[in-house]
Amino acid sequence: MKALKHPLSLITLLVLILVACSNSDDSVTVEEEVVNTDYDITSILSKFEGTNLSYSISGNTVTFNTQDLPNHTSPYWPTSNPLYEAYNGTNTNWNQNPGSIGAQNIEFTITLHPAEATNKQATSLGPIGIARNGVVFFNQYAAGNSPLAGEINSFDQWLGHPAMTQYHYHVEPTYLTQEFGEDAFMGLLSDGFPVYGPVENGVTLTSSDLDDYHGHTTATADFPEGIYHYHVTADDPYINGNGYFGTPGNISN
Ligand SMILES: [Zn+2]
Ligand SMILES: [Zn+2]
Repeated sequence: MKALKHPLSLITLLVLILVACSNSDDSVTVEEEVVNTDYDITSILSKFEGTNLSYSISGNTVTFNTQDLPNHTSPYWPTSNPLYEAYNGTNTNWNQNPGSIGAQNIEFTITLHPAEATNKQATSLGPIGIARNGVVFFNQYAAGNSPLAGEINSFDQWLGHPAMTQYHYHVEPTYLTQEFGEDAFMGLLSDGFPVYGPVENGVTLTSSDLDDYHGHTTATADFPEGIYHYHVTADDPYINGNGYFGTPGNISN
């Protein structure tokens, strides 16, 4: 019995060393993969501009107030408005809906330090975020959470349209990508994570390049240390996928 004790102890010792080595290898790998997640979006706020839009910072949150009036032409403006323009887009199935653009009173309270939520929340119908020109973003669904299919034909030449009087974008806000670039900052979802245009590093992205929430973490021009962000894509679900990556703030409208 005594003769067996030493070999067994040796084997036990060897196993312990192997376990210890693999553990330390794992922890080194994990440390190397740690990326900056201490996000601060304060610097992006100066990109929001418009006479119908204001924001104020209080502590760790920013509160936006917007009238949700687009700074571009649309056939949905009353014909008396200087921004009224008949439809001149490319959709041969264009079909104007009965709505028209009217001033709203929409308030978003959004964290300045967005972080991934442990339990992801679905987006709801109505405003889910705010574009840099004050127009609100909607999700990929029409009333009753049905697909957008029919609604797409009522998108104006800048791919927005009103629900009653509330103008919104479900897809790429082409006025903003034309003005600021296909890879530019487009706005924020209410969880505080930014939305970018469809292009990154010269490549046009599709939903298959992104996670279930329609985003990923890379460096952007505005956040060179990297940040989680959504991308607009030409394919469904366009702006957001299976809900907010972070925790949505309060939206009243
Ligand atoms: Zn809509
Ligand atoms: Zn990106």
